[in-house]
Amino acid sequence: MVEDCVFCKIVRGYIKVRFIYENDSFLSFPDNNPKTIGHSLIIPKKHFETFLDIPSSLGMELIDCIKKTSLKLMQENNCGGFNILNNNFSVAGQVVKHFHVHILPRKNGDGVVLLE
Ligand code: 5GP
Ligand code: ZN
Repeated sequence: MVEDCVFCKIVRGYIKVRFIYENDSFLSFPDNNPKTIGHSLIIPKKHFETFLDIPSSLGMELIDCIKKTSLKLMQENNCGGFNILNNNFSVAGQVVKHFHVHILPRKNGDGVVLLE
């Protein structure tokens, strides 16, 4: 637990969020400033700063959380697809220094442009 980390506070329940899915090592919840309908975040329950810090042994649980969360979000929001995004370090747009994966559910004509 890092005292001033907003995502550690979510893991500990100090900030209340709706959990979309959780397993032993990861959980997911809605982003509070969504870029698409259903935009959500996946975070490890332990504080790791970037993708480089995530132990490879957690890979299967991370993939499990990404798959279960994405499927549920597509169903809940009637979306036909999704993007997976992960910013590492400030220069790449990482604001919260607790590793997280963005899941961006997508609909036809939603106008979101990520990579072209
Ligand atoms: P980053 O730019 O670091 O990849 O993305 C951080 C994300 O965390 C942003 O999309 C932002 O809206 C989200 N976020 C920051 N603080 C909170 C919070 O307290 N609750 C929730 N649900 N999302 C947050
Ligand atoms: Zn943290």
